[in-house]
Amino acid sequence: MDKYQILKKYFGYDTFREGQEPLIDSILSGRDVLGILPTGAGKSLIYQIPAMLMDGITLVISPLISLMKDQVGSLNQAGIHAAFLNSSLTTGQYYKALELARQGRYPIIYVAPERLVTEEFLDFALHAKIAMVAVDEAHCVSQWGQDFRPSYLKIVEFIKKLPKRPVVSAFTATATREVRDDIMDILLLENPKVLTTGFDRPNLYFGVQSPKDKYGVLKNYLEMHPGECGIVYCLTRKGVEEVCGKLKEDGFSVTRYHAGLGDAERKKNQDDFIYDRYQIIVATNAFGMGIDKSNVRFVVHYNMPKNMESYYQEAGRAGRDGEPAECILLYGGQDVVTNQLFIDNSQENQELDPVARELVAERDRERLRKMTYYCFTNECLRDYILRYFGEYGENYCGNCSNCLSQFESVDVTEIARALVGCVKSSRQRYGVNVIIDTVHGANTAKIRNYRMNENPNYGELAKVPSYKLRQVINYLLLNEFLTVTNDEYAIVKLTAKSEEVLGDEAQITMKMAKEQEHQAKEKKEK
Ligand code: ADP
Ligand code: ZN
Repeated sequence: MDKYQILKKYFGYDTFREGQEPLIDSILSGRDVLGILPTGAGKSLIYQIPAMLMDGITLVISPLISLMKDQVGSLNQAGIHAAFLNSSLTTGQYYKALELARQGRYPIIYVAPERLVTEEFLDFALHAKIAMVAVDEAHCVSQWGQDFRPSYLKIVEFIKKLPKRPVVSAFTATATREVRDDIMDILLLENPKVLTTGFDRPNLYFGVQSPKDKYGVLKNYLEMHPGECGIVYCLTRKGVEEVCGKLKEDGFSVTRYHAGLGDAERKKNQDDFIYDRYQIIVATNAFGMGIDKSNVRFVVHYNMPKNMESYYQEAGRAGRDGEPAECILLYGGQDVVTNQLFIDNSQENQELDPVARELVAERDRERLRKMTYYCFTNECLRDYILRYFGEYGENYCGNCSNCLSQFESVDVTEIARALVGCVKSSRQRYGVNVIIDTVHGANTAKIRNYRMNENPNYGELAKVPSYKLRQVINYLLLNEFLTVTNDEYAIVKLTAKSEEVLGDEAQITMKMAKEQEHQAKEKKEK
């Protein structure tokens, strides 16, 4: 059989999807690969098909027990012998599976990374013919990745022990350069074929709103989309409980998912959603890895997630069938605070030394900031996302809330000057809020304590509302006229471009929502 016949016979498909064939060919020619494809692109086929054609066993390293079970289940259903080796098996089952593996029953074996260098597993692997090691969710090797798993570092250790080096294939949906480089370096890929398929999902509409009444907006949105399936993500379990409870009371067909529920209930709720017994699932980010439901018409983020990687992955669960779908983010200032708390109290990375841990925390703060800018930018949202992942977007997509809003170009030179001037005159020692309050002339204890009421820029723009000062300072940060430190104090600092703002010829314009909206907003604030 060749790859086309296997595709048809076992998987029931006639054609390969974008990116699949070149990677399969490379593996079959014995060359390592790194496949960077968005969620839902069809990464598993890329190692499963060669696994059927290669002489020897393919070990698939995967971080999640549930994912392994799903995949092995569907392979077996398709008539392909496959097994998994992880902590969900009893000792008896584990030895039985290893025994069958020794007899050559399985062309594909899913293994949890922490099993690889155990005595029993090595005893099997060193005497078997391992043709390929396929690393799923390969970004888990990167300490800079959001999902770092120390056990992933055992993969290389394991490969080095093998008598003959197998082909190593690695797959991820995380496209940032650092993570990509980390995967290649840490997994010691040899001259790999690297393939990235486009990250753009043209059928997805992106929208950001900063409503005062999030629940009201959500409810209204759901009422406008009757009969459609969708996911509502919240940052915390408590948030899930609250939102799900209210939606239930309001008569929506809704269930919930978070790590605080028992296994049985989680599984049941997930299935209820997948099989359309409930239309809406309110969930934390624990929901979704490995979920393949094609008719999700919307993903609403009730809170801003911790970074763009998470956002795009979660939002990307909408519209996998290629039909139009919507990704709406409801931003609130509290989301930033909650995420900051997560970073400061992170239980992950405990095995790292304090220096490394602080570095990770700095990265996370930087990522959180980029996520926050997404909520504040007035430019094309799709463009912002694609640029974040290192692709070039166009600056107008016509299918996001910014492209579809009425903006006008506003001269903000005077405001920018006051803000940058204030950072400079206060000798780069304070965070965003102090700078804004100073320029606005707030008479608070904090401002008096810092003696910012004696600052030359104090009250310079008392007539400009704070929210507008905040928009401008976000614009200045986004465009690197100012920057902030990555430590927990987030001190605003000058950059090489700051002087441009202070110079006489400076002219800073930015897109702002049309004036009527502003006035309405100002009235509300009063
Ligand atoms: P990923 O791991 O990239 O998120 P999966 O491997 O789970 O994606 O595949 C997503 C879905 O796409 C699965 O339902 C899979 O069967 C389907 N799929 C994969 N390859 C093809 C193909 N060539 N043609 C049609 N459907 C495919
Ligand atoms: Zn756009």
